[in-house]
Amino acid sequence: MIELWAVGGYQHVGCKNMTAIKIDDEVVILDAGFNMDVVSNYSGEDSISSLSEKQMRAIDAIPDDSQLKKEWGKYVKAIIISHAHLDHTGAVKYIAPKYNAPIISTPFTYEVIQNLLEGKKIPNKFIRMNPGNKMRISDNIELEFINITHSTPQTVIIALHTKYGTIVYANDWKFDNYPILGKRPNYKRLKSLKNVVLLITDMTRVNEAGRTLSEHIAREMLRDVLLWGNTEGKAVVLTTFASHIARIDTMIKIAKQMNRVPILLGRSMDAYMKAAVRSHVYRLPKGVKVYGFKKQIQKVLKSVEAKRGKYVLIVTGNQGEPESVLTRMVNDEFPFRFRADDYVVFSSSTIPSPTNIARREEIETRLMAKGAKLFKDIHVSGHASREDHRELISMLKPKHYVPTHGDMERLALGAKLAMEMGYELGKTVHIFQEGTHRVLEA
Ligand SMILES: [Zn+2]
Repeated sequence: MIELWAVGGYQHVGCKNMTAIKIDDEVVILDAGFNMDVVSNYSGEDSISSLSEKQMRAIDAIPDDSQLKKEWGKYVKAIIISHAHLDHTGAVKYIAPKYNAPIISTPFTYEVIQNLLEGKKIPNKFIRMNPGNKMRISDNIELEFINITHSTPQTVIIALHTKYGTIVYANDWKFDNYPILGKRPNYKRLKSLKNVVLLITDMTRVNEAGRTLSEHIAREMLRDVLLWGNTEGKAVVLTTFASHIARIDTMIKIAKQMNRVPILLGRSMDAYMKAAVRSHVYRLPKGVKVYGFKKQIQKVLKSVEAKRGKYVLIVTGNQGEPESVLTRMVNDEFPFRFRADDYVVFSSSTIPSPTNIARREEIETRLMAKGAKLFKDIHVSGHASREDHRELISMLKPKHYVPTHGDMERLALGAKLAMEMGYELGKTVHIFQEGTHRVLEA
């Protein structure tokens, strides 16, 4: 019997991803993430990390697994994390210790989780497994990590091989045929999966027509903006997601082409870069400096201020987060002042929550008031579009299809797409209400 418990991620995008699968009398937990909208409201990661599990639950920052724990807790065999993004990893620290099960992830994701733990010891065993590898979770379940592309390194599609067939969990992915970092999706392996009983997949961008373009396109977009712009003597400030190592690599390379010195600034820039270097997914080019602490950043910006034409600053703050380097720079909290015609490039899209939209608007208005040149949405997404979803379904031909990581509108769009391909609502395509569980295969 296969039963699915939709613990989190079935109500909003970027929100508490967590699914539990029961295969007979064994349970596997897939992801345990933050509610990013709540977490980003807390100024600075310090304050959120000081909250207890109970407090985190009270503010709706982590998935509510209390019922799951009661009913399925003793059957949990493994907690498997698909990739490093906080809406998939953030809650591991609070959720995992309650289960007597190992935490299995790729090395990069492992390093990010260690960083989130901030030295706190949890009783779970950690197992690192590279994409392309397999391991036995129990006599009845074999786990495989299949290489896929997204917007952070070592993202995997999780495959659970069982006697009922293979359960595939693809929560956050894109088909990138020209990735900047890491390999192409392992199409060969995906196509070779013959008996896929269930596919659970991410609906973040199912509302976009066509397919999501390669990260290579984002590189060309940034080149176009930066190499052909009149930047002489001007500050060049770039911002993106700190976990997007491929994008940061592009920025570093372009800085060198501009004959400028790239400098990475911000606590999370430092943390993710360290995770990338430690897990050997990235080698930081010689001469590139990363500063995470406020005092260091202050010192660096003081010297950059006078020689702004010599550097490219790669900073945190693409969503206008209050504690980020960009926001503090705009607020004149550092010894650096924006001047007319300085370049500010947002290599990201705004995650469409009311908070983010308002924050970004404020930052942009203030930057424009200072005379800076703004470049926005110099970005391609890390999430599959509509035609990518269709392709994945054709490739895997799953018996059951479960859309996740989306609001009701997106989950319904995913279901509709599957129905166009012959799936039947309630029989082979299933929309889950968050917090509910249901048998999919008797
Ligand atoms: Zn993600």
